[in-house]
Amino acid sequence: MLSFLNIKKDYRLGAQTVQALGDVNGEIQSGEMVALCGPSGSGKSTLLNILGMLDMNYQGNVFIDGTPFPRKVSEATALRRSSLGFVFQRFNLIPVMSAIENVAYPLMLNKFSAKMQKEKAEKMLVNVGLKDFFHYRPEQLSGGQQQRVAIARALVHQPRLVIADEPTASLDSHSANNVIHIMKTLGHEMGTTFVIATHDSRMASQCDRCINLIDGLISSEDIQWNA
Ligand code: ADP
Ligand code: MG
Repeated sequence: MLSFLNIKKDYRLGAQTVQALGDVNGEIQSGEMVALCGPSGSGKSTLLNILGMLDMNYQGNVFIDGTPFPRKVSEATALRRSSLGFVFQRFNLIPVMSAIENVAYPLMLNKFSAKMQKEKAEKMLVNVGLKDFFHYRPEQLSGGQQQRVAIARALVHQPRLVIADEPTASLDSHSANNVIHIMKTLGHEMGTTFVIATHDSRMASQCDRCINLIDGLISSEDIQWNA
């Protein structure tokens, strides 16, 4: 479903060059939930940003269902809108919008009718356990509730791929477990492919498998989780 070949990425910091990804290769099957694991600074976010078409400045190739990622920004934006969903550590909801407006947003961008936007957004919010919170704004919700809104938003347009960067890192353990459970059950129900960067061993253990990154390279060694 998703394959990436010979991905290399350097960051320039003034005269310095920081190699964030050495030469990474991998393949992710349709419907798989894959954890991208590794210590801080190992390149997880860098790789996720590339797989999510948020960063188009890298070496190597990524293929989605056999088709190379577009190199033109306008084409990448269109494909990202229709086929990808995102969950971030800090939720990244739009503060002036209610929960239902946040969830409907990808449907609006994809030009669904107002009626369909409402129906689908309501259904997704019910699915993440927020049926009584349609009209709450992000600041009126707990972290765990905000992340559930973000998951509803990431899945509402039935994307082929959801990219999640440390989705549980800002949550207490109860909310984190809840978010993990929801991502797993909804993801499997909808057949969505997930790539999830995490240094949360509970999150990783719920995934189908781990890709381990160390110093910008994929490692076959098991990750040593800190308790
Ligand atoms: P992780 O998500 O695993 O913590 P990152 O992908 O954020 O790792 O970072 C990988 C490496 O690239 C680190 O050495 C980090 O300092 C560096 N890096 C990340 N983003 C930037 C940036 N915008 N400018 C310069 N260096 C960066
Ligand atoms: Mg990161």
